[in-house]
Amino acid sequence: MYEEALQRYEPVFGLETHVELGTRTKMFCGCGATFGAEPNSQVCPVCLGLPGSLPVVNRLAIEYTIKIGLALNCSIASWCRFARKNYFYPDMPKNFQISQYDEPLCTDGYLDVLVGGKTVRVGIERVHLEEDTGKSMHVGGATGRIQGAEYSLVDYNRAGIPLVEIVTRPVPGTGFLAPEVARAYVTELRDMLRTLGVSDVRMEEGSLRCDVNTSLSLRGSDAWGTRTETKNVNSLRSVERAVRSEIERQAAVLDAGQRVIQETRHFHEDTGVTTSGRSKEEAQDYRYFPEPDLVPVAPSQEWVDSLRASLPELPSARRARLIEAWSITDLDFEALRNAGALDVVEQTVACGAAPADARKWWLGELARRANDSGVEVSALPITPADVARVSELVASGSLNDRLAREVIDGVLEGEGSPDSVVAARGLAVVSDDTALLAAIDAAIADNPDVVARIRDGKVQAAGVLVGAVMKATRGKADAARVRELIMERLT
Ligand SMILES: [Zn+2]
Repeated sequence: MYEEALQRYEPVFGLETHVELGTRTKMFCGCGATFGAEPNSQVCPVCLGLPGSLPVVNRLAIEYTIKIGLALNCSIASWCRFARKNYFYPDMPKNFQISQYDEPLCTDGYLDVLVGGKTVRVGIERVHLEEDTGKSMHVGGATGRIQGAEYSLVDYNRAGIPLVEIVTRPVPGTGFLAPEVARAYVTELRDMLRTLGVSDVRMEEGSLRCDVNTSLSLRGSDAWGTRTETKNVNSLRSVERAVRSEIERQAAVLDAGQRVIQETRHFHEDTGVTTSGRSKEEAQDYRYFPEPDLVPVAPSQEWVDSLRASLPELPSARRARLIEAWSITDLDFEALRNAGALDVVEQTVACGAAPADARKWWLGELARRANDSGVEVSALPITPADVARVSELVASGSLNDRLAREVIDGVLEGEGSPDSVVAARGLAVVSDDTALLAAIDAAIADNPDVVARIRDGKVQAAGVLVGAVMKATRGKADAARVRELIMERLT
């Protein structure tokens, strides 16, 4: 169905991402901004919108927003204003939200994302700052939605928490990769925000939330289709599924000769499909006007320059550096990133392991163990230093791969460092040639027919003798060294 739809239609998607900033206090008052506090325990006249209260801008929130803009290659406004966005909703006590409208703090940037070994540049239209709303809880219904509920409760702790909205330009031309590119964009954005230290970016707690716009146009046509906006898609996997499911749904609508309606849709985590919400408001419905209670924001060039100089190494720069330093391809890098193994591999290399060895252990044996126990590789009870030590023992010939896996077993089972596991389990490779030669001579004596074949030039038959020696030493020999000694013995 999906592949078929994409033969006729070209998808275009765009993302609006809301990020709760990790400031200690709210956007326009001094209330705390801690997640999970007792309901309505972090409120004051300002964030409750009581008459006569006046907002004051949180300087750190402006600083964080500028940092985000700079990291997204945006221009930073030298002067901008907040605006009132008017609408009525019970979780917004003022009946308007302080936001930014035609004068956002950051504009015209981009973020490069890597998908399938290809870089896709996602244009950023704007980054603006606003305040979050409170949270409604509908009690008594089966679904947790307002329909069928007996009553609703409102928690204003979240009202007024600084919220940054990052809006992309429409992204055309990604074809059947559109869902993956959308997911990769949110992943890259999340990693970038985490690196900047401006948010805890926990999608499951709502500090990073996405709305996904999707439309289809006929292949070969210049005209873009009508877009829908899928709200509050709350995991990386859901971003991918929401785009995919909207592509399938809209293709079916268009194939039936109907038209796609511009509307808000809800994504359902359980079924993976979207259902119709309200019809989409236009900007004019919000009656925006400049916020009269706040002075304009005019960040000086010196401030912006000093923030630019303070930016940490961003994920894109890190990616370029690691690809170069480890001599790997874009696809190799993606495999590490998707396995969540970048940090541990980098730390293992820092502890002295060769990049290829570090990748081999973390992506192979350890990824398998992590998968078996349903945890991230970084959560396994083995440190990068341990892995570096194991790979050092292999490189020096003290362990072979099989013994190394046993050492890893021991470390994971809490038996201590690799060296103590080697000592306690008696796992060192038999490197004493005299001991090996005794086993080799026994294998030669036991297999006269194999010896005859090797002497006839069928060198690969030596594998049988190597196997016999490995068995005799219970796997503790270095197979390469054994092969060498056998060949020396027989020539
Ligand atoms: Zn407050």
